[in-house]
Amino acid sequence: MKIAVIGAGYVGLVSAACFADFGHEVVCVDRDPRKLSLLEQGRIPIYELGLEPLVTANRQAGRLCFTDDLAQAVAAAEVVLLAVGTPTRATGDAADLAQLFSAAGEVARALRGFTVVVTKSTVPPGTAARLRATMAEARPVGDFEVASNPEFMREGSAVEDFTQPDRVVVGVASMRAENVLRQLYRPLTARNIPLLVTTCEAAEVIKYAANTFLATRIAFVNQLADFCERAGADVGDVTRGMGLDKRIGPAFLAPGPGFGGSCFPKDTRAMAHAAREVGQPFTIVESVIASNDTRKRQLVERVAAAVGGTLGGRRITVLGIAFKADTDDIRESSALTLIPDLQARGARLAVFDPVAMDNGRQLFEDVEWCEDAYAAATGADAVVVLTEWNLFRGLDLARLARVMRQPVLVDFRNLFLPEDALNAGLTYHSVGRPVVQAPDRPAAAVLPFRSGTV
Ligand code: NAD
Repeated sequence: MKIAVIGAGYVGLVSAACFADFGHEVVCVDRDPRKLSLLEQGRIPIYELGLEPLVTANRQAGRLCFTDDLAQAVAAAEVVLLAVGTPTRATGDAADLAQLFSAAGEVARALRGFTVVVTKSTVPPGTAARLRATMAEARPVGDFEVASNPEFMREGSAVEDFTQPDRVVVGVASMRAENVLRQLYRPLTARNIPLLVTTCEAAEVIKYAANTFLATRIAFVNQLADFCERAGADVGDVTRGMGLDKRIGPAFLAPGPGFGGSCFPKDTRAMAHAAREVGQPFTIVESVIASNDTRKRQLVERVAAAVGGTLGGRRITVLGIAFKADTDDIRESSALTLIPDLQARGARLAVFDPVAMDNGRQLFEDVEWCEDAYAAATGADAVVVLTEWNLFRGLDLARLARVMRQPVLVDFRNLFLPEDALNAGLTYHSVGRPVVQAPDRPAAAVLPFRSGTV
């Protein structure tokens, strides 16, 4: 099939590459000249496991190309996927659909022959119907259908998620659209991957419901961890005991620094807004949002307490600024709250992240960007782990303790065993577990703080 994908971001680029790999002919459109120029050079603008070889192979096979010419791409396409951003509006909680409606207007004017226009972007219920009306106004004689096909991929495993999803959800208003979408996804349904056909409204709600439910689990386990700290229980034991229950399962039961990323924060807000709009406030989601915001704001207090209360003049190392491991995405990451909060309290920041530092440099000032975790930890009063990179799990804790000014590790991801931290001579603060206090040691020599900016 001939497909045009509008938007070459995390979702658009992965979808375009995977559909091309399924044998479809894909033109991926973006209006960002920087992204297009990188893609033209065979470089991938985002960090996503397995994406580069897929893009390269399909470009070489002639099934995938990139352009800024939306009209030409759409005119040739049987299916147009809208994969543009739907961030939170500048004010309030509603999803900002400006990119979507602007792209849809351009698409409507460019249509040639019967085309199914599909929203892959996450959008509030009713959006497909509004798009249909807007496009019909822009192109009264256009022969098109609007469908909804929410995307459930996770950054960090997006290619695998796209090619082996738990299910595909398609929302349609006609058999004509359903047949086209069934053909599009035949390479997956032929492998017995379920394809659920619903109305557009239900498909739109399914995506918000799934994300808000997962966010609720995270908010729940974070408060559970706080409770465990007071109750003297190890949250790891508690979540293991819960997760073995088949009705609950083990996923999304890891406490941490609060959820971030480009989806959960904005989708919870958009869901809460949509519910208020229809006069049916979703109070559970409202409190998930509030508790997550509070958690992020409290991170600085936890770090301050770990270094004895005062942050002024302290050198604090942050390991990880990506909102989660295996991505360079820092949108709504806890680092975006914690780093400015630490700086506002007078701390000096040394930061290392294996892939997200280029994005960080564009956002943070007065941060020392370091070449590895040990360089970042040198001379530090505390090391704070914010992202659960595997690279950090393998750290030599004794070496880390040796280079620090004060051997204090604040681990917001529970990456380490408390006894390992203790054996390394660290005072160890984690989430939902008792603090482990290092035995007194002679004050470490203050090693020169390498300015190793990379
Ligand atoms: P993104 O910001 O990474 O990418 C959006 C891209 O669209 C940008 O490259 C932008 O330049 C381009 N764009 C915007 N308007 C355009 C236009 N008129 N013509 C051409 N290009 C245009 O966004 P993303 O993270 O890929 O998310 C896209 C949508 O998918 C959002 O609704 C998001 O909620 C949803 N989603 C995201 C993920 C994820 O993990 N990132 C997962 C599932 C769903």
